[in-house]
Parts: sequence; structure tokens; C-alpha cells
Amino acid sequence: MQMLKLLSRGEYKTNEGYQALVTAKQSVKWYKEVWNKMAIPKHMFILWLAVLDRMQLKERLFRFQIVPDENCLLCGTKKETIEHLFFDCHLCYQALNQIKDWLGWHTAASTIPKILRWVAKARMTRFRKQVYSTTVAALVYHLWWCRNEALWNHKVYRVSIVVRRIQSNVKNRVRSYMPNKIQHIDQDWFDQL
Ligand SMILES: [Zn+2]
Repeated sequence: MQMLKLLSRGEYKTNEGYQALVTAKQSVKWYKEVWNKMAIPKHMFILWLAVLDRMQLKERLFRFQIVPDENCLLCGTKKETIEHLFFDCHLCYQALNQIKDWLGWHTAASTIPKILRWVAKARMTRFRKQVYSTTVAALVYHLWWCRNEALWNHKVYRVSIVVRRIQSNVKNRVRSYMPNKIQHIDQDWFDQL
């Protein structure tokens, strides 16, 4: 009986340990995919919240009866969920596509997890990967900012304005964190952005 208890306790612990390991591994994987020294820290923070689905979205606020409806603040037609905002909502989808065009980025990925995975696995120089992930963080941050402007100031910005803000943030940030050694092809690519 005691043996059984010990065994079951042992099994329980092993199982718990395994779960912890799996969770830790998953976080490390996400961390590696999301983390980028070049990105602006406050952008990274918002991206991280989005990855963990910890944003105070209307779907959640509505469930706790904090807001009267769960409609997206940008389009007003769909439920505001993490999937809708990034990047189902037509305004956000347009912003994503304009950013992809700007970078000459050919991918059909259009959700945050898929985009981050794409960048993590892409065969390209470290510099270009850093610029891509700096841009993804800036995109998520600015769309969140745009959504909050709609919430607090009842103002919905045009996509072109949001995209210009992202481009300017990314260019300034990358210029100040430019690596010493960079291939000519990457330098030319960045200069024409
Ligand atoms: Zn929407």
C-alpha cells in the first residue's frame, strides 16, 4: 500500500516535472522567436503580451461586464479578439500588407505566431531577421496604440499614418543599432527602405 502511494506520488511528481519541462521548453521557444535586441523595448513588451494573449481585449472585458459590447473598435463589425486584431481586421490586415510590401517580404503568414515562426526559420542574414522582427514588434505596438486611440479618444487613424509611424520608428531604431559588420547587399536593402 505504502509502496503504491510512493509510486503514485513519484509518478505524480514525474508527470508534474514533465509538464513543467514542456512549458519551459515552449516558453524558451517563444522567447527565442520573439526576443530581439534591436527591437524597441516597449514594442517588445506589447508583442509579448499579444503572444501570450494577455491584452485587455473587448471580448474579455465584455465577459466581465466592463464594456457594453465586444465589437472591434477599428471596424465595428467583428468581435475584438486577438486573432481578429492581428490581423483579421481589415485595417490591421492592410497595415500588415503595406509593411510586407515595404520590406519586400513575400509570405502569406498573417497571424502573429505564423509570422514569428517564419522569421525564426527564414534563411536570411541575421541583420535582415533583426529588421523583420523589429518591424513586427513595431507593427503590433502601433496597431495596439491605434486601437487604444479609438477606445480613449474616439479617433481611428488612417492605415497610411500608422504605417508611416512604424517605418519611421524602425528606420531610426535600426540606424542607431546598426551592426559594425554588415553585408553590402543588406546595407543597400536597408538604405532604400
Ligand atoms: Zn476589426
